[in-house]
Amino acid sequence: MNKKNILIVMIILCFLIGCKGETNKMQEFNKSEETIFTQARKEMLETQIKRRGIKNQRVLEAMFKVKRHKFVSQSTQKLAYKDYPLPIGEEQTISQPYIVALMTELLQLKGNEKVLEIGTGSGYQAAILAELAKEVYTIEILEPLAINAEKILRELDYSNVTVKCGDGYLGWEEYAPFDGIIVTCAPPYIPQPLIDQLAEGGKMVIPVGVHYQELKLLEKIKGKIKTTDIIPVRFVPMTREERN
Ligand code: SAH
Repeated sequence: MNKKNILIVMIILCFLIGCKGETNKMQEFNKSEETIFTQARKEMLETQIKRRGIKNQRVLEAMFKVKRHKFVSQSTQKLAYKDYPLPIGEEQTISQPYIVALMTELLQLKGNEKVLEIGTGSGYQAAILAELAKEVYTIEILEPLAINAEKILRELDYSNVTVKCGDGYLGWEEYAPFDGIIVTCAPPYIPQPLIDQLAEGGKMVIPVGVHYQELKLLEKIKGKIKTTDIIPVRFVPMTREERN
């Protein structure tokens, strides 16, 4: 090899070593970022969820496992584990972590249930439900959100979640009855189709009201509905598809 060739080989080697260094740095950065998110999730669990009285072990595990930051935009990721709702586009919000945990706990899922969610939004609540029930059906009225949520849920391998774009007021007759129904937008009154599609012994968690909203738990016992008021809440309103 002449001097010139040796020089070229050395330049190429330096370049390759430099690139590897950058890749390692990137991997280190991603790893430390994941560690920071895991730590934030642990804190969220302790300070926002357990401290406010959520005790169901399976719900606590799911809230720790599901990476909430994957369901928000890059620019909001740092806020994903804070104690408040977050914007998810289309003027909609992902609920505060405590409210997600509370609503999920109220369903008392054992693992074998078929659950319907109205208001897919980011897909985060659907992922939590997918950890705790057998099948999850979720309806979102805004197409861009439905498409985005479906994409994220696929990427994260939630094969037991089915997303559709439509008006959740009407429920999802094809897969009814449901052992659990969770509504994450507030209608002015409880939609009759959802009551009809609740299985015997099933539970529905739903915020109801216009200016003042109350989170309600409905249980279907021997065909009759028992309603319990839980706490005052603030959700985006349930909108309706325009009908001719
Ligand atoms: N559960 C979501 C947050 C939902 S925000 C999450 O985990 O991110 C409430 C969502 O309900 C919004 O995305 C809104 O578009 C949707 N929505 C409102 N009215 C609806 C209706 N009639 N049917 C289905 N979705 C509806």
